[in-house]
Amino acid sequence: MANLSPMMQQYFQIKEQYPNTLLFFRLGDFYEMFFDDAKTASRELELTLTGRDCGQEERAPMCGVPFHSAETYIARLVAKGYKVAICEQMEDPALAKGLVKRDIVRVITPGTVLESSMLDETKNNFICSLCAEENRAGICFADISTGELHATTLEGTELEEQLKNELSRYSPREILINPAALAYKALPPFIKERLSASLELLEDDAFEKDVCTTLVLEQFQKNDLEELDLRESPLVVCAIGALLRYLKQTQRTGLERMTQIELYSGAQFMRLDLNARRNLELLETMRNKEKRGSLLWVLDKTRTAMGKRLIRVWIEQPLLSPAQISRRQNAVEELTEDAILRDSLAEQLTGIHDLERLLSRIVYGSANGRELRSLSSAAAKLPGLKALLRESKSALLSGIHQDIDPLEDIQDLIDRAIVDDPPFSIRDGGMIRPGYSEELDLLKGDMSDGKGIIAQIEAKERERTGIPKLKVGYNRVFGYYIEISNSYKEQAPAEYIRKQTLTNCERFITPELKELEGRILGAHDRSVQLEHQLFDEVRKTVAAQLNRVQQTAQAVAKLDVLLSFAQVSVKNDYTRPVVNLDGKIVLKESRHPVIEALLDAPFVPNDVQLDKDENRVAIITGPNMAGKSTYMRQIALIAVMAQIGCFVPAAHAELGIVDSIFTRVGASDDLASGQSTFMVEMTEVAEIIRNATDKSLLILDEIGRGTSTYDGMSIARAVLEFVADKKTLGAKALFATHYHELTALEEQLSGVKNYNIAVKKRGDDITFLRRIVRGGADDSFGIEVAKLAGVPNKVVTRAKQILAELEGGQEVSMPKRRGRKPASEQEDVQLALIPPNETEVMERLRALDVNTLTPIECMNTLFELSRLAH
Ligand code: ATP
Repeated sequence: MANLSPMMQQYFQIKEQYPNTLLFFRLGDFYEMFFDDAKTASRELELTLTGRDCGQEERAPMCGVPFHSAETYIARLVAKGYKVAICEQMEDPALAKGLVKRDIVRVITPGTVLESSMLDETKNNFICSLCAEENRAGICFADISTGELHATTLEGTELEEQLKNELSRYSPREILINPAALAYKALPPFIKERLSASLELLEDDAFEKDVCTTLVLEQFQKNDLEELDLRESPLVVCAIGALLRYLKQTQRTGLERMTQIELYSGAQFMRLDLNARRNLELLETMRNKEKRGSLLWVLDKTRTAMGKRLIRVWIEQPLLSPAQISRRQNAVEELTEDAILRDSLAEQLTGIHDLERLLSRIVYGSANGRELRSLSSAAAKLPGLKALLRESKSALLSGIHQDIDPLEDIQDLIDRAIVDDPPFSIRDGGMIRPGYSEELDLLKGDMSDGKGIIAQIEAKERERTGIPKLKVGYNRVFGYYIEISNSYKEQAPAEYIRKQTLTNCERFITPELKELEGRILGAHDRSVQLEHQLFDEVRKTVAAQLNRVQQTAQAVAKLDVLLSFAQVSVKNDYTRPVVNLDGKIVLKESRHPVIEALLDAPFVPNDVQLDKDENRVAIITGPNMAGKSTYMRQIALIAVMAQIGCFVPAAHAELGIVDSIFTRVGASDDLASGQSTFMVEMTEVAEIIRNATDKSLLILDEIGRGTSTYDGMSIARAVLEFVADKKTLGAKALFATHYHELTALEEQLSGVKNYNIAVKKRGDDITFLRRIVRGGADDSFGIEVAKLAGVPNKVVTRAKQILAELEGGQEVSMPKRRGRKPASEQEDVQLALIPPNETEVMERLRALDVNTLTPIECMNTLFELSRLAH
């Protein structure tokens, strides 16, 4: 340290305080990184690594980015999970005596981003804080870009599972935990690998109860935890307190935006674990992680960023209370009944900017003139929007009507104060509208008068000197000057003071010009300063109305989502489901909301009958590709849609509330974790069995297929028995399987019913009817589906031979071949041994189901066979 240059010493002093960050150290027009930070940044951002003398023998590795384009580089680092500490020059280097003072102004972490370029406007950006102890935890989720803060206490022996579910629901980008939370061993890998979030282990001190209590009371301006309903929730207080401290350390500004804690209980929402969320493709598809093809894609017709974020939250959190669901349904129904209202609302919502995030930037002091104008143009839409809801009947819509504040005063203030098209920067003036401030208008008057006088000086001096091309100009270094081209320079009056010689002209100043310059520049500086001050006052006046804007933003978001549900319901011919607690799921002519939207062909609707008694478990058999998975997912998605308050794709729908949906479907995305497919499958089955209740809905697709037939079938049957039996679980379940032996369970276990998806077989060809019917299927048609998929005929024919032998109880024989001839000849020989036509005739005959043929088809088939035999 001793022989380091003074600047490097300063660097190390600052770096020491922020060890786990990449330090962006401001040097003039650049942010520079040094040593390991430089190596990391150059690797991650593909920057050239250079070196800088640091007072020691070896140069310090260094790389840098220009300060004006730093945001994109920071965004890339933060997206990769790094924390970036921004160290600014705290004084003007030109005026500094000695080393320029520098300090950290902010640490940008994945969960504390505020810049719109680093945020996705359709998603919340949550940071989570978790304070866990044995069997209890306080957890909170904050989005500092919108000011939301949600918190709850979790308790119970299955705490680890609950924590994983809660984290899956909010998908935070960054998670702060206390040391005791490490006892839940599965959490860190879950956070890092499954959620791809940053994990920050804070020390116990950060969660210390008294300190946290003080921080919480200070933030929410209360005297007592009772007023926040937090007296009985000490762990929540600790979680919020630690979060506030972390935000204060990283943001270095106040957290005025966060004014309320929304306490919720996990029991309010349907339980959906990460597998279920992903398998049901609620927000994105499994394969490509795209919105297209997800439930969100079908339901989201929202028009505002606030609505886009809220619809995600609603889809992620289906409700459990029939009363709450029917509040939403009433509002949706009211909107479905009035096409004109729907269109007018849609038009009025279009163009309402992101009030929530604009407000955050205004409150945190980072908004510019353009953002204030966006707020005003959004506000301009509000009176019209409010008026449209005046006649609303449903409680939710009338509540929204009340909550929308037209914000006329704010709009008026911004319109009076800020010009229509303000510049990006707030430092160079040009933002404040003439007429808003007398003082500013006077200063600007001085400036333009001054400019007028300059023009007069130019004319006067031309006349006096007789130099026709004499010009008065301005540059930043010399200020105002008189310019005379070389051909006239001899005629310059003696009192002109020479300032600069260029190749083809000379520049001079005069005392008169300098005096005027002082006046003009003084007025300019003062006007820029005054503009900034006036702007700041407007900004602060708006920021003081935080609660009104926030409440309006939330109301707009809700309206946007309800309108989206209504529009989709009308367009797609959805029905309002009857939602109650009787445990029945009765659907008539139901459809899969996403597949029907993706399919060019018509979707075949199907009925569903599930209840707590005779119809608890449906065993679904049927050929591959028949539509088993589609049918099962359709029911789960309809349950989700019903419980978020949307209408559903069916002609008639009754839905008993489902407390959780569990899925065990195909290969999961967990294969990267190094477990085998079968191991993953069994882990998931174990989790389902441990956590499901008799009010849950289970989607079990081909359990046991990842191992040998008998093992697989035995596991499948044991799981089925456990799920079906009221004494063990008695949940509602849909169980797709190719083990046809399992259909025997219908006779043996109450509550189990067999279904299959009908296909029509004609000779070798099968037609998928997509209709679900009672009873087990008698064939898998796997070989036919293989043929449909384009597996070569030879393989298909051989598969049929093997199947026939297996079904006949024989040992599988090898295909007959003669030795040593080349492959092509061998084929010929084999074909010669068994006359080809004969095999085919036999095949066709064997496959024929005479009962399904019409007389004319009989004739045709006979004709064909006879032709083949000749
Ligand atoms: P496997 O046993 O091979 O997994 P499966 O029986 O689960 O097959 P699905 O994947 O559900 O079959 O369906 C296959 C395709 O059939 C779907 O992608 C869809 O295009 C179509 N399909 C399914 N159900 C219907 C329906 N009711 N109406 C129209 N098309 C359907």
